[in-house]
Amino acid sequence: VIRLDQVTKRFGDNTVLDQLNFTVDAGKHVTLIGPSGSGKTTILRLLMTLVQPDEGIITVDGEQLYPAPEKQVREVRKKIGMVFQQFNLFPNMKVLRNVTEAPVTVLGMSKDEAEARARELLELVGLADKCDAYPTHLSGGQQQRVAIARALAMRPQVLLLDEVTSALDPELVAGVLDVLRDIAHSTDITMLCVTHEMSFARDISDQVLMFDSGRVIESGSPEKLFGDPDHERTREFLSTIL
Ligand code: ATP
Repeated sequence: VIRLDQVTKRFGDNTVLDQLNFTVDAGKHVTLIGPSGSGKTTILRLLMTLVQPDEGIITVDGEQLYPAPEKQVREVRKKIGMVFQQFNLFPNMKVLRNVTEAPVTVLGMSKDEAEARARELLELVGLADKCDAYPTHLSGGQQQRVAIARALAMRPQVLLLDEVTSALDPELVAGVLDVLRDIAHSTDITMLCVTHEMSFARDISDQVLMFDSGRVIESGSPEKLFGDPDHERTREFLSTIL
């Protein structure tokens, strides 16, 4: 469902992604690991069209996201949802409205339908009782779970997760990961995830890609990559975080 062909991204003379190729098949859960600065977040930002590549082709669900005319970009972009490190909720909107806003304004869903769906999703993330709270009255973990519900409300085919627990206090991490595990195991959504939570990655991933200096240097099942990596660089990286 996601395909990157020879994608290169530079910031000035820093080549962050170097003729990168990879695919994520529909319904699969793929985790990106690698040292800080290796370009993992940049890949998610390219898919969200927050940055543009310098070269290459990006395809989502058989339709080109880059290069493509603006109208097509907007359409393809709707297939993708993202949860950020910093939850990025709308602070002036109550929880329910945070979840209904995009389906109503972007997808043209009726308010009633959007609210019914939002309540279901808030139930799924364990926050059915917080519909009328403002984000600032929630813990970081709760805010992140609202952000997950908000992303799912757009019914994306692909969910991008960018180190979604790294801004959380340690005691709040498990609740968010449990919700994501549930979603990974109970839906057919495709996930592309950047995380340092290796046990989570091991639980949900079909495939793990190890990045270094803008390239995939090794990929495989979580058992293989975490248990018996081929590449010395992967071994070194894992020893720093496990
Ligand atoms: P981390 O785990 O620290 O988030 P990462 O692997 O996700 O790292 P990226 O955030 O993709 O790495 O960054 C890759 C490189 O691109 C870094 O050297 C970073 O400084 C650079 N970079 C990212 N965004 C920009 C930008 N908007 N302008 C200039 N340089 C950038």
